[in-house]
Amino acid sequence: MSLAINDPIEKIKGIGPRYLRCFQRLSIKTIKDLLYYFPFRYEDFSQIKKINEISSEEKVSLVVTVKKISLRRTFRKKMFIIEADLEDETGIIKAIWFNQVYLLKTIKKGITLSVAGKVKKKGKKFILSNPTFEIISHFSNDQEKNQNEFLNFRHTGRLVPIYSETEGLSSKAIRSFILKVLDARKQIREYLPLFLIEKYNLLPISEALLKIHFPNSLQEAQRAKDRFVFESLLFSQLYLLRIKLKNKLLKFPKINFDINLFKKFFSTLPFELTKAQKRALYEIALDMTAKPMNRLLEGDVGSGKTIVAMGASLLVLNSGYQVALMAPTEVLARQHYQKFKEFLKDFKIKIGLVTSSEKRIYDNGLEGKISKKALQKILNYSFPLILIGTHSLIQKDIKFSKLGLVIVDEQHRFGVEQRKKLLTQTKNPEIPHTLSMSATPIPRSLALVFYGDLDLSIINEMPKGRKPIITQVVTKKQINKVYGFIREEIKKGKQAFFICPRIEEKEPLKINEVKAKDLVSLAEKLKEEIKAVKKEYKKLKEEIFPDLKIEMLHGKMKPQEKDEIMKKFLNKEIDILVSTSVIEVGIDVKNASIMVIEGANHFGLAQLHQFRGRVGRSDYQSYCFLIPDNFSPSTIERLKAMIKYNDGFKLAEIDLHLRGPGEFLGTRQSGIPDLIMRALLNKEIIEKTHLLAENLLKEDPTLKKWPLLLQAFQEFIQKQKRS
Ligand code: ADP
Ligand code: MG
Repeated sequence: MSLAINDPIEKIKGIGPRYLRCFQRLSIKTIKDLLYYFPFRYEDFSQIKKINEISSEEKVSLVVTVKKISLRRTFRKKMFIIEADLEDETGIIKAIWFNQVYLLKTIKKGITLSVAGKVKKKGKKFILSNPTFEIISHFSNDQEKNQNEFLNFRHTGRLVPIYSETEGLSSKAIRSFILKVLDARKQIREYLPLFLIEKYNLLPISEALLKIHFPNSLQEAQRAKDRFVFESLLFSQLYLLRIKLKNKLLKFPKINFDINLFKKFFSTLPFELTKAQKRALYEIALDMTAKPMNRLLEGDVGSGKTIVAMGASLLVLNSGYQVALMAPTEVLARQHYQKFKEFLKDFKIKIGLVTSSEKRIYDNGLEGKISKKALQKILNYSFPLILIGTHSLIQKDIKFSKLGLVIVDEQHRFGVEQRKKLLTQTKNPEIPHTLSMSATPIPRSLALVFYGDLDLSIINEMPKGRKPIITQVVTKKQINKVYGFIREEIKKGKQAFFICPRIEEKEPLKINEVKAKDLVSLAEKLKEEIKAVKKEYKKLKEEIFPDLKIEMLHGKMKPQEKDEIMKKFLNKEIDILVSTSVIEVGIDVKNASIMVIEGANHFGLAQLHQFRGRVGRSDYQSYCFLIPDNFSPSTIERLKAMIKYNDGFKLAEIDLHLRGPGEFLGTRQSGIPDLIMRALLNKEIIEKTHLLAENLLKEDPTLKKWPLLLQAFQEFIQKQKRS
């Protein structure tokens, strides 16, 4: 019986209810889904040795079955030791693992393993100490078959695909099912238009599916991967660009590009805008006259994004609309409120502040607290009005009467839903323009993949007169000298930040998958962090700087407490602020000129740069001291980059390459296909597919001209949304 490509996998012989549940977990429902479940790597079994072929001090890979496994404990050292006898048809070798008791859960008698490690000789016997291993089969009853299968592979020099497993479904089982349905791939008609296949030299679909599962060489596997990376990127670009096209059709607030207003604004500022700031403002203004704006404003920390947001707000207010500005913390919201008041005092506008602790309104030099009711009244009748706030802005009882622009500062701190929510809180039928701001520069290639539905404005220039921050790596031995230096700077009236090491999370958590034990470990982590801050705080306060005013800040404090401390710091009532990484976002303290980062090796480059950006905000010379607690090669690499570059974009690019896209983005972003994830380092292909998607949509925005492509595209998007 031959299987149809869209048949459910139950039709495959050997898949009963038990396997079906496993496959469900992997979102595999049909034969086609199974064929598109790609291996994440290949094992080269042509290189495998037999036990009777190995010699001492040699690095080897073996395919073995576990004959015996036991746990013992040494008396003296109180160490746990797992010992296993591993055998193949030529002999037996002993393997030892130290202090990894949990391995007993995975390595069981009878299962088949591939192990790799260095061979040691102990007496007459060979042993493998702490070898890496991989389970080839969980099943004890088909050892023979396994061995034979791998012998086969060995003889043909076959690369064996390794799939990510799920409980109850091994890589090997997946492989055998894929083998059974491999022929069905021929039913899939090529969905990429021929001219694309030719122009970009891609493998046709049938061949690509064969070679991605069962390549004869790594080169072949790569060719197959290239094709799927290409189509995945193309599809995701098409998806984002179509959203962009659709947005264009929405009704939007028509904003008048009033040059004279800008001239007046510029002339009231205490400084000259940089060229980059002007360019960004111009792009924003132009956008808002012509289409619903959906724009991301990227600029390094301290590059002056707030002023640009002000200029944009002025235009919108001037056209008779209201503006909302949302910031992730109360401190930041209040800071914006102060700045808007200060810089826009010559323009007759009302400015409101909404946080969980208070509501205020500023009107033509007068200012005061107001009630919720009064605020709503003002929202009903007042134009020009700008309302600044935290998450409190997206409460259901706040409703604008004519919202023209939504500004989201530090946009990565908000979820997509939160950002969208604000857009709907208005009585006017038009969709407000959106300006998102971010100081986490991401390379353009990534921006295309993640924010391809947005337009991008980049501020790539710092205000004049800023001195580059002097960055130094400090060893524990030199620390006293640095303390001395800090004391002198503080005596001169400056202030300092101390950042304490972060306790690392082992696995990034997806909130809907969090299990009780993760929560416990998360809570533990927070506790550890707070412990670290308290310890550092105590040390600085009691031993190092007993004469100075020191306070601390950490994630367990209430927002009001945090705010209180930040206010004191701004008012120079505190000399040194000791903090966990909560300090990272947006805060502008001109008088702070020293940043000390303890455990600097625990932070990524982008984050280190964010911390550093908290100082160097005036023409006074600022300093950043990095104190790592180890000097591993990768730490040295990162810290060197920090010393060499002051440019966030440059550092982001380096960070991306040092840590890889998954780590760089901080989480395993859900919905991003694994293949794309790994292709994110490939700038050219991202640019290429972006351009291609643009051209295809220009030729036919409906894509109906290429029905097979359209169908494959739709399936791809549905699959992404499912997973
Ligand atoms: P960020 O881009 O990190 O949000 P801000 O908007 O907070 O930066 O600006 C940082 C500081 O630089 C603020 O104090 C702001 O007033 C000041 N600033 C902004 N633009 C200029 C400029 N063109 N010249 C001098 N100072 C500027
Ligand atoms: Mg900012």
